[in-house]
Parts: sequence; C-alpha cells; structure tokens
Amino acid sequence: MHCYLGADIGGTNIVCGVVDGEGNLLAADKLPTEAAGGFASVVGRLAEAAKRLLAALPQYTCVAAGVGVPGFVDHERGIVVKAVNLGWDDMPLADELGRQLGVPVRINNDVRMYIYGEATAGAGRGRRFVLGVTLGTGIAAATVNEGRLHYGSGSRAGELGHFGMPGIPYRCVCGLTGCLETVASATGIARQARDAIAAGERTVLADWFPGERAAELTAADVSRAFDAGDETARRILRHTGTMLAQGLAPAISLISPDMLVLGGGASKAGERLFAPMREELTRIVHPMFMSGLKIEVAKHLDDAGIIGSALYAREQTAAGG
Ligand SMILES: [Zn+2]
Repeated sequence: MHCYLGADIGGTNIVCGVVDGEGNLLAADKLPTEAAGGFASVVGRLAEAAKRLLAALPQYTCVAAGVGVPGFVDHERGIVVKAVNLGWDDMPLADELGRQLGVPVRINNDVRMYIYGEATAGAGRGRRFVLGVTLGTGIAAATVNEGRLHYGSGSRAGELGHFGMPGIPYRCVCGLTGCLETVASATGIARQARDAIAAGERTVLADWFPGERAAELTAADVSRAFDAGDETARRILRHTGTMLAQGLAPAISLISPDMLVLGGGASKAGERLFAPMREELTRIVHPMFMSGLKIEVAKHLDDAGIIGSALYAREQTAAGG
C-alpha cells in the first residue's frame, strides 16, 4: 500500500508523520528544529526521523513527501526563498530532502499546508470552497477552491493579519499600526490581558500573574479566566471575536466560501471566541453569504500540517507536477 510522508518545520519543533491515501495519520514524531545547527543538519535529522517512521510500517511504501515551512516558499521550484524563523534564504529543500529520502518532495508554506489538510481531510472535507484561518502568533489564511490552493500574484494571498483596522492601537512587527493580528491572535489575546492588568482592571488574571509574572500569561489563561466568570477575560474575547469578524467579513464577501475553518493555538478558545465572532459576522455580512457558510474549528489541530503536506505531495506527484 502507498503512503505519504508529511512534515511541518516550525521555529521550535519539527513534526513529521506518515499518512495513507485517505489522509489517515498512521504514525507521527516530533523533534526539536535546532535551526541554529544550519540547513543541512535540520534536513538530515528530518530525513532520519522520517526513515525511522517508515521502517516501522513495512507494509507501506512511501511514494512522495510534502513539507510545510513558515515563510515564503517557491513551491514550483521547491525552494525556501525566505524563512526568518529558520534563518533560511534560497534553500533547495525539495531537492535535498528528496535526495535523502529517495522520493519526490513537494514543499509549500506551512499555513497553506495546514489549511489544505483541513480542506481535504479535516473539517472542510466534502466542501467546495474553503477559507481557512490560523490564529497563532499571528494570523494567516489560505483558500482551497474545489481542491486547489489559491496563491495570488507573488504567492502572497492569505496575508490576512496585516491590514490596519480602526480602533486597534498596537504597532505590529511588520511596521504598520493597527494590524488585525496584533489583537486577533494568540499573542494579541495575551497582550490585551497584560494591558488590562497594567491598567489596574480588577481581574483574576492579575491575581494569577502578579508583577513581572504577567509576561508568562497566554491566550489559554484568558480562556481559563473566562470560565471562572472573569469580566475582563469576557470583554477581551468578545472584542477579539468582533475584530476577527470585521477582518474576515470582506474576505467572506469576496470569496464566498461554504466553509470557514479556524485553526492555530487561539482557536482552542472555541465558542468563547467564536460566538461573538459569529454574532458580528451575522450583523455585518449579508445573509446570502452567511446562510450557506459552515464555521468550524480545525479537526486535526496540531496534525493538520502533517496531513496537509502529505496529501499535497500526493496530489502534486499524481498530477505529474
Ligand atoms: Zn502587521
């Protein structure tokens, strides 16, 4: 039986796994990226981990591998053009990994691979027009229309996190002020909570994270405070959901998806965040778009990148690409 290897190279960890033709994850492993060791070392260790996984599945034959990388990827040439977190510029990842594994390798941007996995074998399975958004350190999006990823000019499609919105005061890492992702991301949720503590709001978060410990606060703690009935946490998640809706509304009108998948770390807030988002979407997006739109949290969460990369490699190699 054929199987496909999928990997997601993050700034901290690499996750890799073996997927069958249906998108079922057969085995997976995680290893530290150790990007400081350099490109050759990272690729070598990924190849070793992949070979170990495949050796434990002798009934399967690996026929292709896919890799998602955080940054700008030339998927047609198989080159990582720029991955700031990894310190990579113009790295021939597909060729190098392909040489070590002995199978064709296809690479792409990590968010695209994550959403491709959800669109083809996750929450969006069976849907034709999928808009996927990941809420992690930042916000990024990808669209899969009838099984095909949309890239746009310069392969820039999906950079949803970086447009300025009225009412957001924060300066973004990109240099602009008011970017959506400064609020509506895991980092943004934690930032708002720290601001509330600094402003002297009465919140359990101030008790849990006194003084300098506020730096340790994460989006998950805001959800925990929400569940404890904390008004500040409720306000923050409501505001975040509302901003997210305002950022997504034009995209929904433009693309007219039948499925909106939300993934990434902050999506674990679930309905605490998505109930106000849905409420705002219903208020500002025309009902003709909303009536056929299903909204769900990613099904595979942490594994979506592996599954997406593997299935992308399958699709690309089957097409002779
Ligand atoms: Zn920005």
